[in-house]
Amino acid sequence: MKDIKVELRNIIKEFPARRDDVPVRAVDNVSMEIYDGEFFAMLGPSGCGKTTTLRLIAGFEQPTSGEILLDGQMMQGIPAFQRPVNTVFQDYALFPHMTVLQNVMFGLQMENVQRKEAQDRALETLDLVQLPQAARRKPNELSGGQQQRVALARALVKRPSVLLLDEPLGALDLKLRREMQFELKAMQQQLGITFIYVTHDQEEALTMANRIAVMDGGHVLQIGRPDEIYESPATRFVADFIGETNFLQGELVQRNGGIGQVNFNGDTLLEAMLEDVDPIRGQEVTVAIRPEKIILLPYNPQANKPAGMNLLQGHIQQKHYIGTDTRYIVRVGKDADLIVRVQNTNYDHSNDFKNRDVVNVLWDKHNARILTE
Ligand code: ATP
Repeated sequence: MKDIKVELRNIIKEFPARRDDVPVRAVDNVSMEIYDGEFFAMLGPSGCGKTTTLRLIAGFEQPTSGEILLDGQMMQGIPAFQRPVNTVFQDYALFPHMTVLQNVMFGLQMENVQRKEAQDRALETLDLVQLPQAARRKPNELSGGQQQRVALARALVKRPSVLLLDEPLGALDLKLRREMQFELKAMQQQLGITFIYVTHDQEEALTMANRIAVMDGGHVLQIGRPDEIYESPATRFVADFIGETNFLQGELVQRNGGIGQVNFNGDTLLEAMLEDVDPIRGQEVTVAIRPEKIILLPYNPQANKPAGMNLLQGHIQQKHYIGTDTRYIVRVGKDADLIVRVQNTNYDHSNDFKNRDVVNVLWDKHNARILTE
């Protein structure tokens, strides 16, 4: 049994109406448990309530109702500075007139830690974030990535048991962002601190997190490991937000254990997994299938459907070569297109499909999911 580090119970946060505006319910009945030593990501589009949830844990905001527990202790009435958490913000918030070392020592000195000890701990932490050579510099003499490391050092030097990170890599270019993702993850594993990480970047969450909470409109839609969220999205929103997904509409005609049969286009039965949904026969449902799970073969009207596979006829509408793979848009019905990704395992592309080619489109039924919302 894992120890619960942070617990949110039925949290609601409403911001009062301003002038003729209506009140905003930024967080709407959110409950979650975050385990000790876990890298936990809160992921969702802008305005979904991630930052507000983080600020509630930090103590910068108070919930309208609900409870927050840290290490099993109720946080109601406990001010931010007395909570065993620290926050790293996207804009770094470094003091420009202080050196890097002074920036990192600042929080310790506020807590009356002796100067010598504060300096030793600050230098040790700058080592950890790989910036020992920058101790005497001012923030404006550092690159964005280095400033981000200083902000991290400043939060880590106080040895919080939970570190809250609000889009900390948002201001960095893509390459540096990727490097920092691996470094942050390695650092988190080395220190064993619980990280709660807010991002709207699904790739970032998939790369770094042990578990992800996908949020929208103040609600948590799904919590799970990256592979669970990607392979078994609970709703159409989650499937669409995490990576690329194809959706085919149809009517559920039969259920057989964990497999549903869906009438697509009026003339084809598609089979797909029924996981956490419970549709009734005749219900309009969505079949979700990832582009990389689909196989394209040259058109063969005599082709038998291999056991366990779905088979459709289609024709290539568009083709985009994107280096690692080629992305095809394949028309499979009157208003239905599928995106298909074919990995480029060969340098020779002379046998690739071309626009208007007719193709057989196949995928394993276990790779497709039936969704109801
Ligand atoms: P982003 O990625 O853009 O930062 P977010 O998911 O972190 O978005 P929040 O910042 O938590 O979202 O905001 C959620 C909702 O609450 C938004 O509609 C926002 O406008 C509103 N909100 C946030 N803070 C306040 C505030 N202090 N007063 C009024 N409304 C607020």
